[in-house]
Amino acid sequence: VFSNVQTAPSIEVFALTEQFKKDSNPNKVNLTVGAYRTEECKPWVLPVVKTVEAQLAADDTLDKEYLPVTGLPDFCASAVAVCFGEGHPMVLSQRADGIQSLGGTGALRLGYDFLRCILGRDTIYVSKPTWGNHKGIAQQCGYPNVREYRYWLASGRCLDEQGMLEDLTAAPEGSVIVLHGVAHNPTGCDPTPEQWEKILAVIKQRNLFPLIDLAYQGFASGDLDRDGRVPRLFADHNMEFFVAQSFSKNFGLYNERVGNLAIVTQSAEITGRVKSQVRNIIRKTWSNPPSHGARVVATVLRNPALAAEWRENIKRMAERIVLMRQMLFQKLRALGTPGNWQHITDQIGMFSYTGLSAAQAEYLRTNYAIYIMSDGRINMSGLTSKTVDRVAQAMHEAVTK
Ligand code: PMP
Repeated sequence: VFSNVQTAPSIEVFALTEQFKKDSNPNKVNLTVGAYRTEECKPWVLPVVKTVEAQLAADDTLDKEYLPVTGLPDFCASAVAVCFGEGHPMVLSQRADGIQSLGGTGALRLGYDFLRCILGRDTIYVSKPTWGNHKGIAQQCGYPNVREYRYWLASGRCLDEQGMLEDLTAAPEGSVIVLHGVAHNPTGCDPTPEQWEKILAVIKQRNLFPLIDLAYQGFASGDLDRDGRVPRLFADHNMEFFVAQSFSKNFGLYNERVGNLAIVTQSAEITGRVKSQVRNIIRKTWSNPPSHGARVVATVLRNPALAAEWRENIKRMAERIVLMRQMLFQKLRALGTPGNWQHITDQIGMFSYTGLSAAQAEYLRTNYAIYIMSDGRINMSGLTSKTVDRVAQAMHEAVTK
């Protein structure tokens, strides 16, 4: 039965991490995976998460019964409030409502599935480049047309505004448009507020359906409200859309799979109907969501003191990333590395799209045991003040050799 099954292609980020683990170089550095690292280059369990986990462990009223198929109600309500801001009319009117998912990936999957299976949408657009899974999930959901809109202008290391607007304008009516709500992965380059206005205008005029992927809220500016500007802009313009929220990064809950699909429609009644359809997709997919991560998030967000502590934790992560950007930039400048490296400090979020080629990435790996993605993307938080000099030196060599 299975003898003709071919081995599937490897998943680059995980394959490189496996290779990294086996690397015996004591000075090895892993800048591939999209997870936060401390100044000691260690994963960070947020202090606020530890506090709440201790509380939950001691709480005898909690049990292991199934959650509702749509998730923990407190979690969904809190997640939507983080996205749009407490007291936003969209939230108060219940035109926006949430449904718990397995991470941001699960939220994307639910959104894609609903749009394909219930609304029959057949064309989906993702940015070029984008997070690899955006296309992969679309293929898995059976979208006949998975297309790209221009996004990154390599020559200027900036947004290809004209290309993006042209491609959206040419998209067939009803197409699903996947947008990165904040901290674009992998480029670290977001449209300006003025550019977002233009993007929104085309989406509205062409009757396209926006699906906003919000995986890094808080990571761009350290401020959740500032980083929630895009879903709020779409809400303020009375649009109908989905937001795929992830709490993997901003809560450091990567392996707890905490996400939320925010559904925004013209009325609370319609939102309820859409939610019921998504509920039935969940029932047929994973049946019920896990509770632990959602309880942690809901407990933090329902308590003002804990929520304030969480905001501080996020700020700390965002600030360390900015510091690493500055240090890497200054070091490359000091070395006189050819090229303009300003994009390292201009870009935002967890990643920097260095402009290094696949061959240069390989050079770093084989000569320095420095692991970066083949498209040149590096996780800035994988750097520390101890390793940044060596990484800059290696980049310098890779560029000048
Ligand atoms: N969207 C983007 C752009 C991401 O980078 C990621 C995580 N790498 C996700 C969604 C999914 O996050 P999660 O781990 O919560 O599924």
